[in-house]
Amino acid sequence: MRLIPAVLAASLLGLAFQAPAAAAEKPLAGRIIVLDPGHQLGNSNPKFAKEMSATKFNGSIVKGCNTTGTATNAGLPEATFNWRVAKRLRTLLEEQGATVVFTRSSNSRDAWGPCTWDRARIGTEAKADAMISIHADGAPASGRGFHVIAPSAIKGWTTDVAKPGRRLARAMISGMTRAGAEPATYLSSTLSIRGDQTTLNFSDVPTVIVELGNMRNKADAARMSTTQGQQQYADWIAAGIESYFS
Ligand SMILES: [Zn+2]
Repeated sequence: MRLIPAVLAASLLGLAFQAPAAAAEKPLAGRIIVLDPGHQLGNSNPKFAKEMSATKFNGSIVKGCNTTGTATNAGLPEATFNWRVAKRLRTLLEEQGATVVFTRSSNSRDAWGPCTWDRARIGTEAKADAMISIHADGAPASGRGFHVIAPSAIKGWTTDVAKPGRRLARAMISGMTRAGAEPATYLSSTLSIRGDQTTLNFSDVPTVIVELGNMRNKADAARMSTTQGQQQYADWIAAGIESYFS
């Protein structure tokens, strides 16, 4: 049998030699994104009461380590919803070339925290290009939709990140809205600038809190409770992140 060069052999077989997609072609290549799935299932576990009772001044007020979060009326805990969305979002972001770091490694009744100030440090230590804290709200049942919280400028605390945080928040809102997410119907603005959020105040990288919806609203809770709905929320956040880096 005559030996033929591999390229010719491949073309005879109808195979195309394709170079693997260069990393630079992926829209989030080289980006470090920290995802903070809000709360932790064990935050409500009495055996962690001591750990949860830690407090710190956050630049504007004294806040506790962390909280239990809210839940749907049917009992889906916010910690679990945030966790599921974050995992789906991680897959999407990694497909686009990003390096993704989580602020917690489990969703378990046998785990607590980390405290919000430690979650903020994880973003700083990872030298994150952006940090997204994933939450859901527990507002009056009639309202639904998402909103984004960015830090106000507090001297010695957030003067370095207030502006980039606001830019990240605006990009998140425009990207998510364009992708189909409904802005909150129960607030006067989709963007809240707040000085009392520990995760934002302790962070030294652009960080926002995304409140994906209202767990007490029937329509939002229904979406939050299915895997398709959780994927939808992940898709929306990914669209916001793409908008920030485009
Ligand atoms: Zn929350």
